[in-house]
Parts: sequence; C-alpha cells; structure tokens
Amino acid sequence: MNKTQKPYWETKTLDEMTQDEWESLCDRCGICCLEKVEDENTGEIKLIGVSCEFLETEECRCIVYEDRKSVSPDCIVLCPDNILKIQWLPDTCAYRRVAERRKLEWWHPLLSGDAESVYQAGISVRDKVVSGIYVHGKDIDIELFSL
Ligand code: SF4
Ligand code: SF4
Repeated sequence: MNKTQKPYWETKTLDEMTQDEWESLCDRCGICCLEKVEDENTGEIKLIGVSCEFLETEECRCIVYEDRKSVSPDCIVLCPDNILKIQWLPDTCAYRRVAERRKLEWWHPLLSGDAESVYQAGISVRDKVVSGIYVHGKDIDIELFSL
C-alpha cells in the first residue's frame, strides 16, 4: 500500500472483505469474550469482569477458535450481518467502527504494527478480568466490566 492508497478497512464494507482481511480486523481486545449478565430491570446485556473459559487472557485469543460454536454453543460468532445488532459489542471494536464508517484508532495493530499497542492503550482485557477457568461453578461477586 502506498501513501495515497486507502487501507482496505476504509474502502471495503465488512461483507466485501476476504477471510484474512476480516480476521485481521479483530484487534484481540478480548472484550467480546467476557461473560454477560442481563439487567433484570431494563433487559440490557452487560459485560462482567470474567472471561469465557476459552479465552487465553494474556494474548486474548480463543483457544478453540475454529470449533468455538460447537465447543461453546453460547459463543456468538460475529459476521457482517450481526455486528450492528449486538448491543454489547464495545464501541472500540474494529468491526463496529468499520460498520459505522468510523476510523480505527492509532492503537489498532493494523495501524501500529504491534499487537501490544492494544494492551498499552488500555483497551485489552489483559490484567483486567478473571479467567472463567477459575470461577467455573463458584459463587462470585459479579462486577461489571468497564475500560
Ligand atoms: S470486541 Fe471486536 S476487536 Fe475486540 S476481540 Fe471482540 S471482535 Fe475483536
Ligand atoms: S468460545 Fe472463544 S470466541 Fe467464543 S466467547 Fe469463548 S473465547 Fe470468545
């Protein structure tokens, strides 16, 4: 890409992207892989500070990614058609940003060239949440997640 060319995420819609382009768009913040609770008064779905048990919380990668839907039936697989329908998808999520025709932030690895910039900018769930592995089957105080 030369300096006058726009990057693919600014020229293509989500459903025009190749599989590699789509996968590269995820910044690996891990936020969408947090457990959720429903507000009993409003019905709003909120994220809590506990990750899915299949999220490796250092690099924020799913350890069952290829088989995630069969291993974890509750996992919501993102696709171009559901991005704007998922209310709990964070404002920082690159898929949401592209769908809303907003630019990516400097910390996105596609711009920074460094996967660590997501963590350095405070966007990653690393060091902010408890892995679901450790709370499985236990009673815990539920704390809502916020960046
Ligand atoms: S919230 Fe968006 S950018 Fe972050 S891990 Fe999930 S899909 Fe990727
Ligand atoms: S199964 Fe994988 S992709 Fe789905 S919520 Fe869990 S960690 Fe995230």
